[in-house]
Formats: sequence, structure tokens, C-alpha cells
Amino acid sequence: MATRIRNGRVQVDGTNVSFVESRYTSAAFARPPKILVMHFTYGGTAASSAAWFNSPDNPGSSAQVVIERDGSIIQCVSFDRPAWHAGTSEWRDRHGNHIVGLNRSSFGIELANWGFLKRAGSGWQSYTGRPIADPFMGVHRNGNPDGSTQPIGWEDYPEAQIRSAVALARAAVDAYGIDEIVGHDDIAPTRKWDPGPAFDMARFRELVFGDAGNADDSTATGELTVNVAEGLNLRAGPGTQFAVMVLLANGTRLRPLERQGRWISVSVLQNGQPVNTGWVHEAYVA
Ligand SMILES: [Zn+2]
Repeated sequence: MATRIRNGRVQVDGTNVSFVESRYTSAAFARPPKILVMHFTYGGTAASSAAWFNSPDNPGSSAQVVIERDGSIIQCVSFDRPAWHAGTSEWRDRHGNHIVGLNRSSFGIELANWGFLKRAGSGWQSYTGRPIADPFMGVHRNGNPDGSTQPIGWEDYPEAQIRSAVALARAAVDAYGIDEIVGHDDIAPTRKWDPGPAFDMARFRELVFGDAGNADDSTATGELTVNVAEGLNLRAGPGTQFAVMVLLANGTRLRPLERQGRWISVSVLQNGQPVNTGWVHEAYVA
């Protein structure tokens, strides 16, 4: 499946994902943000969260997208406009800018997830009383919401949901040059716990950026170079049946991410920075 963002809309395999428009948005971005903020919904289905983002009873919250546990995506706000996902927040970005209030400087991705759980007998349940089997047990690095210092249960994120979020984040890298991914608990550490300890941020950044987690960590180790005079097709998936996204010039530097057979998924580098992600055949890189 190929995930892309075109004219502010998320497409999977060329078709727009379902759009449940939120009323909570602002005038279009002057410049696209470079930051992605990851959230959990603290709720049930993605559809219920999307409906809440358009409810007149909602005091004002939204996000560009909500991703269901099975990986399906509901869009609520165009990527051309701010969503109201960050609230009171503050961050020093990797370019040294001190940002207060990140709604106009970031995109928000919500993952459908019950978040921190409460004990129920020998198990754990959501705040609404729904039993959650096999939770992730962990202590939030900023302290647990209940003030406890022992591991508590957090709903875990299914791999399908993470993979979908990675694909969407890569699409945002391609479309807007996203160069930083943070948690709501990074930018509002005194009042937010999402996406929390069940979300492996280091792995997520690595899957999106293809390195140890920073877009500027341009160690040359393991990098590849396009080695075809006429250029090389960057494809949306590991095979010639997948669409050609762009023709990479001879000499383009690539950072390998993963391998499937003779196909390698790569970040395309420009001045050491990842600017695109796709698949190339191993025969044409050195
Ligand atoms: Zn949040």
C-alpha cells in the first residue's frame, strides 16, 4: 500500500481516505510545518474520535488524522491547515526555534488508543471500564498520571497501526519535509502523557527517517549511491508492479532502511537530509 499526501489530503493507493471534517481548524499555514506530533486519543474507535473532533460539545480539539488500531486512516483536517491538537505547548525545534503553542508549527497524528489504564482485579481496564488484555506495562518518563512510580498498564499499539503511522509520516516527509517527530508528552510534559511509554518513539523515528532517530544524523556508514547513468526509478513498493515516484539521478545518495528480497527501501538524501522515501532494486546501487 502506498500512502501519500496530495493537496493536503491523505491518499492510500491513489484514493483519498475517508474525511470527517473537523470544525476546529484555523486559517491555512503560511509555510508547511516541519514537525509531527504523535498522540493517543484516550478513546475507543478512530471513528468516535473523528466524530468528537466535529462535535459542537467539544471545547475545541482536532488533529489532521486519526489512525485506527487496524491501520485505517480517517482524516479530519487538511494538511494545509492547522489542527487544534497541541494546546498549551512549547518546544525548541532542531533548528533552534523556540515555539510556544505548536498548532501552527506542527501536524497532529492521533492513534486510537485507550492510553493509561486502571487496575481491575488482576487485569486492567480503560477509564470507561473496558477490559484491555495484555497491556504494555511501563512508567511514564514524566511520571505516571496517577502519581505512582510503579509500572502501570497502557494499551499497546498494534503493529498494523504503527506501520500505517510510519507510512503516513513518510508521506509527510515527502510532501512537507518533516524533519522532527515528537510526542504530545514532549511538548506539554506537565499535562499530557500521550503517546506514552507503549509508543516506541526511537523505533518510530528510525522507521520514518531511517537512522538513529534524527534527520540530521548523516553518518556515511552503510549509505548507498545510485549507479546508473540514465538514473534509477524510486518506487512506491518492493517490485516493478509498484508506481514510479521519481527518477533518481546517477550519484544520488541513499540510506537503506529495510530489505525485501532484492529490493531495498531507502531514504533519498539531499545534502545528507532525507527528502523522500521509496524502494530501489539492489542491482542499481553501489
Ligand atoms: Zn495529545
